[in-house]
Amino acid sequence: MIFTARPTVELDTLRRQFSGDIHAPGDAGYDDARQAWNLLVDQQPALVAVPRTAQDIAAVVRFAREAGLRVAPQGTGHNAQARSGLQDSILLNTKLMRGVRIDAERRRARVEAGALCGDLTAPASELGLAALGGSSPDVGLVGFCLGGGIGWMARTFGLCCNSIISLEVVTADGQELTCDHQRNPELFWALRGGTGSVAIITAMELQLFDVPELYAGAMLWPWERASEILHAWREWTLDAPESVTTSARILQVPPVPEIPEIVRGRQFVVIDGAVLGSAAYAEEVLAPLRALEPEIDLFAMAPPAALSHLHMDPEHPVPGIGDHQMLEELPAEAIDQLVAVAGHESGSSLLAVELRHIGGALSRIPAGAGACGRLEAAYILFAVGTPMTPEMAAAIPPRLAQVKAALEPWKATRPYLNFAEHPTDTSTAFGTDAFAALQVIKAQYDPYDMIHANHAIAPAGR
Ligand SMILES: Cc1cc2nc3c(=O)[nH]c(=O)nc-3n(C[C@H](O)[C@H](O)[C@H](O)COP(=O)(O)OP(=O)(O)OC[C@H]3O[C@@H](n4cnc5c(N)ncnc54)[C@H](O)[C@@H]3O)c2cc1C
Repeated sequence: MIFTARPTVELDTLRRQFSGDIHAPGDAGYDDARQAWNLLVDQQPALVAVPRTAQDIAAVVRFAREAGLRVAPQGTGHNAQARSGLQDSILLNTKLMRGVRIDAERRRARVEAGALCGDLTAPASELGLAALGGSSPDVGLVGFCLGGGIGWMARTFGLCCNSIISLEVVTADGQELTCDHQRNPELFWALRGGTGSVAIITAMELQLFDVPELYAGAMLWPWERASEILHAWREWTLDAPESVTTSARILQVPPVPEIPEIVRGRQFVVIDGAVLGSAAYAEEVLAPLRALEPEIDLFAMAPPAALSHLHMDPEHPVPGIGDHQMLEELPAEAIDQLVAVAGHESGSSLLAVELRHIGGALSRIPAGAGACGRLEAAYILFAVGTPMTPEMAAAIPPRLAQVKAALEPWKATRPYLNFAEHPTDTSTAFGTDAFAALQVIKAQYDPYDMIHANHAIAPAGR
């Protein structure tokens, strides 16, 4: 069904029931409010609603139904590029709902819809607990979990979505529901890694972990050594224990003033990540990498909060064009191919070309898992460019295509939706049964496809 805005429905009706902010096209605040974290994305929604409460979200949904509009939830807009046009949608920006409450004794946290990874990882760490965030503190926790969620403890603890204890949601008919293993279990299953197509999350309860000892950081070498270092890392990952999660990257650090001088404007090959365990244990695990004598070695004992910053991701909105590919395996030949298209003699201007080592707990489906139980691959390739000039913008997509083509022979079948930054056929991301179940749940809770997700699941029968 195609929704068409019906201007006869009074916006004042919504304003009366709403404690947050509403911005319509032409209003002074509209342009700021429609901006996504990825500055390249030009979102042009029918309206922007910025709720403060779950009741506000329910009011927006009821209004949208009356007005013949869809509702497009957004935490930050890190993945805004994957979503189709918003001209018939209300952009529901949850940035004012960032409340976090931690119950340290029960090792649980309740976070509101707009909480960022850092909003939880930092205070949990102060209490001696670890939350499963990603590599960047300003990614939204809800969006992160809707696609799975991997961070630097992922090979030990698995996907973040499977650490969700319960969810509070608003459904497409404006009802507020709680879901967990007992209450509305099908919704609970679908929203753990099955995209945000079936309901709007207003809050989540997450498990926290005791991580008494953690050794984390990065080792950097000049990028002329990329081939040697990436080959050594690849071999090392083949026997690396599940207590360690790392990535290896060719990184071209931008020449911007806020970056420390020691790395500013330089090119490196970087290995970063974390080991769960004592310094002595971690030093033993990382010894083969240290033996390669990094120019900069930042690995040390660290609190869990440090995991949100070690990857040096931008912690503010930036323009970016990225792409990914899951890899079934990573033979030595794949490293040669990658260095040929992204190394120092390749002419690449990509900001980062990264291999993440997955496997471990990520390869097993835990008891009671959600729609994304595990990742069926051994490594992930992720590459990204920052289009600072029109020439750079033009050069990025063909270089990304070249990087992906170089590793095509080792490509795994299923994409990882969190790293899918373009419109993606979601049927390829799940097994046949799981995808069919997601479509049935979508048809049950949102038969007219009112919820406009980045990675859409069409209702069964449509
Ligand atoms: C710099 C950077 C670093 C990253 N690092 C990692 C990483 O280490 N590990 C990893 O797994 N991923 C990582 N990602 C990917 C990230 O997890 C996804 O982009 C994720 O979708 C971001 O969620 P968000 O809420 O910030 O983004 P948004 O674009 O705001 O949200 C993504 C989608 O989630 C849905 N959604 C958001 N809020 C709600 C809600 N309340 N109810 C229902 N649906 C909702 C919407 O469909 C929305 O389009 C990274 C991305 C970037 C750009």
